[in-house]
Amino acid sequence: MALQLKNHCEKCNGGLAPDGEAYICSYECTFCKTCVEQMDYICPNCAGELVVRPKRKTE
Ligand SMILES: [Zn+2]
Ligand SMILES: [Zn+2]
Repeated sequence: MALQLKNHCEKCNGGLAPDGEAYICSYECTFCKTCVEQMDYICPNCAGELVVRPKRKTE
């Protein structure tokens, strides 16, 4: 099963482009860069580290 890419930030509900910059934790909580910087790169849901989500290649 393919990884489901979330297309909006879980904090501010802002839209995230599939090829834009987004951050994700190991439990796939997804946030925008602005929120991640405010949260010091720590996921508020699971306290995991937030890292840049790999960009999906356009097929
Ligand atoms: Zn956000
Ligand atoms: Zn998380």
